[in-house]
This record gives sequence, structure tokens and C-alpha cells, in this order.
Amino acid sequence: MKRHSYYFFALIFTIILLPFGSYTQDRPDTVTEVWEPVPPVVSPGEAGAPPSDAIILFDGSDLFGWEGRDGGDAPWEAVDGEMRVVPGTGDIRTREGFGDVQLHIEWKTPSEIRGSGQGRGNSGVFLMDRYEIQVLDSWENETYPNGQAASVYKQHIPLVNASRRPGEWQSYDIIFMAPRFNDNGRVIKPARVTVFHNGVLVQNNVEIWGNTEFIGLPSYREHSMEEPVRLQDHGDLIRFRNIWIRRL
Ligand code: MG
Repeated sequence: MKRHSYYFFALIFTIILLPFGSYTQDRPDTVTEVWEPVPPVVSPGEAGAPPSDAIILFDGSDLFGWEGRDGGDAPWEAVDGEMRVVPGTGDIRTREGFGDVQLHIEWKTPSEIRGSGQGRGNSGVFLMDRYEIQVLDSWENETYPNGQAASVYKQHIPLVNASRRPGEWQSYDIIFMAPRFNDNGRVIKPARVTVFHNGVLVQNNVEIWGNTEFIGLPSYREHSMEEPVRLQDHGDLIRFRNIWIRRL
């Protein structure tokens, strides 16, 4: 073959093959594949058990991760794998602070019904020490709906009442996004919360209006990016177990 025809055929082959090469690199379906970051591997654990990357706040043995309202040891009891409110001793809170989280907590109101409305099996899970997801025996127990179990207290009524009977264990799975404040301490992004009550969606990414208030309207007051989880002593014999949290 003459030299000039060799170059000619090489050129033709290159022109024919070029699109195939670029096709494998830029196939239209691969353009939208995102390969990084690769999510860390997490073992989900057996049913009811915490996932492998969870911070265990209460595993049934002790209250070391908790403190009382004066900052001393938590005055509640750890008995038979449960954390029990000791009425009159006050709220307890985690020693560690948290911001954006997934929180799992199980709770039980007394099987013997005493009191009514807000006076029946009342406690609460306060995110960042100030935003309450209500704990209440809401099995056939009338009260204002924005104060029943799984309400964002006095802010958001739960979508449904997924309560179990008194004396049965119940669960909350909470996804909470902390509020953001600007340099002047004004809220620029309100907190948001999603709650599953016994696996049922009851709060769907609702906006929290500010600090939980018993009297008056809620409003935001600046706080740090990480604040404790607080559990309420409302004078009732509430029990908790299997409490774990994941930073988001
Ligand atoms: Mg309460």
C-alpha cells in the first residue's frame, strides 16, 4: 500500500470510530449518574434496635447521659430496663447537645387511667430544650387537639391519632431540623419537624413557630446550634425506653 493511501484509511477509520468512543463516555443515561459521595454503610439493626451509627441516650441500664434541671445527676429512676419519671423531681435533659437529628424514643403511660385531658399521662419530648412534642395518653381522652399526643404542643395538631391503649409501649420517630439565626439573633430559617407515632406519619415537615409556650404565642429566641433533649416531668408516671439519636 502506498504511504498516502495508508494515511487515508487511517483517517477514515478514525472518523468512523470516533463517535463510538465518545458515545461510551457520554452515554445520555450515564450523564445523570452521580457517583460521589458514597453514603457511609450503616447497619440498621434488628427490629426495634438502634442503627449502628446511633448515639444511645438510654439503653435500659443507667441515666449517665442525663442530668437534672440543676445540672446534677438525673433524679429519675432506671428500673427493669425503663426510665421512670419520679414526679416532683423536675425535667431531665441530655448532657450532650444536639441540632439536626433523627430521634427514636419509646414511652408508656400508666395502664390504670387516672385524671383526664392534659392531666392524664402527660410528659413531653423537648427538642433543643424548648420545642415540645407532646406525650399524653390520648386513647379516648378528649383535650384540645393541638395539645394531644404527637402534637407540636399548642402549634400543630397531629394528622391522625395513632395512640395505643394506656399501658402499651408507643414510639416516636422524629426528624428535626434546627432553626438558623443570623448575626443579629433573628431567626432566618425556622425549625421543622416530622414525626411518626407508632410508625404512622403524624407531623409532615411542619414549621415550628418558636419556643413552646403554655400561655401566649410562640416566638423564637436565639440559642446555640446544639441544645439538649429534655423530657418533661408533668407529675405523671411515664416510662421511657430505647432512646437513641442520630446527628444529621
Ligand atoms: Mg407535656
